[in-house]
Amino acid sequence: MRERVRSIRATLLAGQALVLIGTVVVFAAVLYSSRRNADVRALDERIGTRVAAIAAAAEDDEEDGVELELSDAYLAEFSGGEDAPYFLVWDSAGAVALSSGVPGEVPLPTAEGFRDRPPRREATRRGADGLTVLVGVSTAPMVAAHREFLLSLVGAGAIVLALGLAAGWLLAGRVLAPIRRMSEAAAGISEADPTRRLDVGRTETELGSLAATLNDAFDRMHEAVERRTRFTADASHELRTPVSVVLATAEQALGRERTAAEYEEALETVRRAARRMKHLVDDLLTLTRADAGDLPLARDPVDLAEVSDEVLDLVRPLAAAADVSLALDGAPGIVVPGDRERLRDAVTNLVRNAIRYNRPGGRVTVSVRNGGADAAIAVEDTGIGIPREHRARLFERFTRVDEARSRRDGGAGLGLAIAASIVDGHGGTIDVDSTPDVGSTFTITLPRGNE
Ligand code: ADP
Repeated sequence: MRERVRSIRATLLAGQALVLIGTVVVFAAVLYSSRRNADVRALDERIGTRVAAIAAAAEDDEEDGVELELSDAYLAEFSGGEDAPYFLVWDSAGAVALSSGVPGEVPLPTAEGFRDRPPRREATRRGADGLTVLVGVSTAPMVAAHREFLLSLVGAGAIVLALGLAAGWLLAGRVLAPIRRMSEAAAGISEADPTRRLDVGRTETELGSLAATLNDAFDRMHEAVERRTRFTADASHELRTPVSVVLATAEQALGRERTAAEYEEALETVRRAARRMKHLVDDLLTLTRADAGDLPLARDPVDLAEVSDEVLDLVRPLAAAADVSLALDGAPGIVVPGDRERLRDAVTNLVRNAIRYNRPGGRVTVSVRNGGADAAIAVEDTGIGIPREHRARLFERFTRVDEARSRRDGGAGLGLAIAASIVDGHGGTIDVDSTPDVGSTFTITLPRGNE
């Protein structure tokens, strides 16, 4: 993790270096070339005015040859040494007529204007009488000044670059430090210390809100782990009872010689316990598969009245034994896309409960209704009802309102959880409305899809 943070810092720095180098180079190039152009312009002006003055003052006299009408003081400037300007005057025949101290051979210019003859720059003018006048000057001092200027630009650029990069490095470190702290804290969240959370710090920054988001995710994961742990513990607990029954019955039966009737009775007890275990294991499997998103659900047209009718047929013996009457309110024709078997399981769980938690002489009414985009199945009973405080957790696993009564009736508290999970898989909802001692109504609402 540390490596990763470091490489982000290096990447940031590399990007910043590229931008800085680009900026410094462009800036220096612009400065350098504008200084160079200005200097060349100034030099041209300097030799340009001189060549014009000499061209105006020069004339070729038949008798005296080429003469310059200029003061000695003016001309003194042209004999100042190596870097001083120099001039030449050619007559109309192209022979050198006049010259100041000229450094080496100067070729006769072919046109007026400026020319570069490194390390010199020269200006040419045509004068009177076919004369050609040239003024030149050494560019060495200018080139030296330019080299110095370039060096100082490079130096300043290097300082800007170094300062910029150092500031960038420090800034990146400051920005990344909380991320490193967060990753260390996240690494410290273990099973042994699952409630440890990231320091949210200043929530108004992006990192603060990232920490808050991560904390939320950790909370949800922690809850999920806890739920699963509770589920496993509850499931084991539920399985223990029938397993103990099987073990105790078998041990008792094998303890001594028994009559055939006693063996039969023992086997019957074992069969009941095994059935209960099978039922429980089936339920657990359904829920676990639903959790893993692995509960295959068909999408066939399902007629809700038909399904309800089938359920009522199925539970008729149970209702008769409990002295509860059954009624169906609703005609066929209300169809939803879904898994017929699973929907029947869900409704069966509701109707079984409505019979189990009813009273002798009571009634269970299943009604099917069409609500436009949705369809609903309501299971209404005249039973014991559910106290308000238990309703919120009613659809959670292993929830029993009345432990003694549920256990006696064989419920592990999974029926409603399974119904809820099936309905959820269909994109529907399940709700309960109940008045203690009067009765309860469970309503499944399902989307009708494009049926
Ligand atoms: P169980 O297998 O225990 O019936 P369920 O998940 O089906 O588990 O139901 C959970 C609990 O909700 C039951 O134990 C019972 O206390 C309560 N309950 C469910 N349906 C009804 C109902 N129609 N009337 C009263 N209580 C109910």
